[in-house]
Amino acid sequence: MALKQVAEQIATCRKCRLWQGAKNAVPGEGPVTARVMLVGQNPGSEEDKTGRPFVGKAGKFLNKVLAKNGIRREELFVTNLVKHVTPENRKPLPDEIAACAPHLAAQIREIEPKIVVLMGAVAWQAPRVEGVEYLETYHPSAAMRFTKIRKKFEEDFSALKKRL
Ligand code: URA
Repeated sequence: MALKQVAEQIATCRKCRLWQGAKNAVPGEGPVTARVMLVGQNPGSEEDKTGRPFVGKAGKFLNKVLAKNGIRREELFVTNLVKHVTPENRKPLPDEIAACAPHLAAQIREIEPKIVVLMGAVAWQAPRVEGVEYLETYHPSAAMRFTKIRKKFEEDFSALKKRL
C-alpha cells in the first residue's frame, strides 16, 4: 500500500478513541526512499495543531542532535507509534497501541528501511517487521532533561550516522 494511502487510513481511523480529541492525525513525514525511520511515542499538542511529527520542543532538540551528527532530517521518515494526540499527553493505553501498530507496520513495509530507531519505552513496543533492523534509544524529551540519557542518546545518533 502506498504511503499516501496509509496516511489516508490513519486520518480516517476509528479503531480507538483518540481521534475524538484530535485536531489532526499525524501520520509522519519523509521520503518513501528513507533508509532510516525514527519512531516516537505519539504526537503532542504542536504536532496535533500542525499535523506534523516532532515540531515542538522535543522535535527542536531532536533536530539539533541530528544536525550535530550530520544527519539530514529530510532524508528520514519521522513518525510515532501512535498517530493521534493523547489527552493531556498521557502515555497511550495498551489498546490504543494495539489499534495503531498496524499503521506503523504498513509504513515500515512500504518504506523497507534499513534501520528503524525506536525512541522511548513506548516506541520500543513497535511491531517488528522481518528483515528490518531495530535500534532502541531514549525519547528526545527524556534526553533533553537528563544529562546521562542525553549522552547515551547523542552516542546512539553518532553511531547511527557511522552506519549510514
Ligand atoms: N513526542 C513524540 O513522541 N512524538 C512527537 O511527534 C512529538 C513529541
